[in-house]
Amino acid sequence: MATNTVEIVQDSLQALLDDPTFLPDLEGETREKAFTSLVSILSTPNHVNKSFLRIALENGKVVRIPSFRVQHNNVLGPYKGGIRFHETVNEGEVANLAALMTLKNALHEVPFGGGKGGVVINPRNYSEKDLYLICKKYVQYFSDILGPDKDIPAPDVGTSAREMDWMMGEYKSIRPGESYRGSFTGKSVENGGSLGRREATGKGVYFTFRYLLYDFVKKQEKWLSERDNIFAKTALSLKDKSITLAVQGFGNVGSVAALSAYQCNHLNNKVVAVSDRNVTLYNSDGLDIPNLVKFVENNRGDLPTTEKELEKADVKANIMDRDEVLTLDVDVLLLAALENQIHQDNMNEIKAQFIVEGANAPITTEADNFLSDKGIVIIPDILANAGGVIVSYFEWLQGRETQFYSEEEVFKKLYEKMEQTFESVYPQFFGDPFPLRQNCYIHAVMKLSTIMYRQGKLY
Ligand code: GLU
Repeated sequence: MATNTVEIVQDSLQALLDDPTFLPDLEGETREKAFTSLVSILSTPNHVNKSFLRIALENGKVVRIPSFRVQHNNVLGPYKGGIRFHETVNEGEVANLAALMTLKNALHEVPFGGGKGGVVINPRNYSEKDLYLICKKYVQYFSDILGPDKDIPAPDVGTSAREMDWMMGEYKSIRPGESYRGSFTGKSVENGGSLGRREATGKGVYFTFRYLLYDFVKKQEKWLSERDNIFAKTALSLKDKSITLAVQGFGNVGSVAALSAYQCNHLNNKVVAVSDRNVTLYNSDGLDIPNLVKFVENNRGDLPTTEKELEKADVKANIMDRDEVLTLDVDVLLLAALENQIHQDNMNEIKAQFIVEGANAPITTEADNFLSDKGIVIIPDILANAGGVIVSYFEWLQGRETQFYSEEEVFKKLYEKMEQTFESVYPQFFGDPFPLRQNCYIHAVMKLSTIMYRQGKLY
């Protein structure tokens, strides 16, 4: 099972129970009551919305497609989170991902709550016209609960700017005269999207990696050398080393993260492996990522799978099985595919010392505990992959202010925002006593709880 957000929230609250700096105004029975309220508020979504979209497909068949919009928590602002098109989507998964969004936004101080949507389809099996109808129907079914100040969807696995443009178009016709620009984010730039939004999650993942293994180590070397914990030891052992990276997933997140790492030559790191749904490509001297990106753009999103295709792409690499990327002997593994990729059956074979979660929940709970106990550093999803929602926030702001930021400005603001999170919390994050994931959760839960307390929600 994927890392269970609710369980970790509960553990984090348990850890906070004995912390006198947490809700210091409350004592005794009142404090206990507040904790019980917090557990129940954060463990359950506010709303679970379900529908079967009735679609007349281009091939003449009429189907009913299960679809969801889970609204987990809106204490920080409107619900916010992507809509996933995938054949394995289910209510439990969407609810777990919605809770992750609440925590991600709280951690990075983005003024949104957490939500997530899902449609149970494999988009590759549908024509463009079918997908357009599915998007329209999704908005028709859920239009009452969506809106720029209520719940703002964005792209996720299987969706992109194209779907957000269609959905915003439908929203606009259902609600004429209302403000609609901020109703969806991740739209195309022509349609009110933000420059840099497409690349934002991948850039943010790369930035997390770069910050933690270079900038932070440089700035806090002395502080780190006085810490006796896994993060400090690993970060210092990788210092000044030519770091090897493997990237699982070559979609919107993985390809951008790999390209950013490739382009940052001065850091002396090498992307030695990338993978997608078909294949792993490996070259111990480093892969030509720009050529792979070009190839993928002209090959319906797929990496080369044969010698002939590698030649066409002008890339030197060994072709390996798809999942081999996970078990290669590299320093850093970036997970940018789907959830549950490292689990009970392969956790023993992981050799990377440092794992960055570009995807949401890519490691199961058993594997997470096992790897952390073994001394492998895991940079959790809510810390590493927030670039997407942070730039969604910039897009929403630009829509409100009818202003446009340059791409340079967007990335600068993104880096500043992520750096601010790292800087404001590093003693707690990289000190002790909990693994980084739990420290991030504790931090997010602290922020949410303080606001809920101030709003009178804990009585
Ligand atoms: N789907 C992305 C995520 O999981 C982005 C969400 C958003 O921009 O609202 O963080």
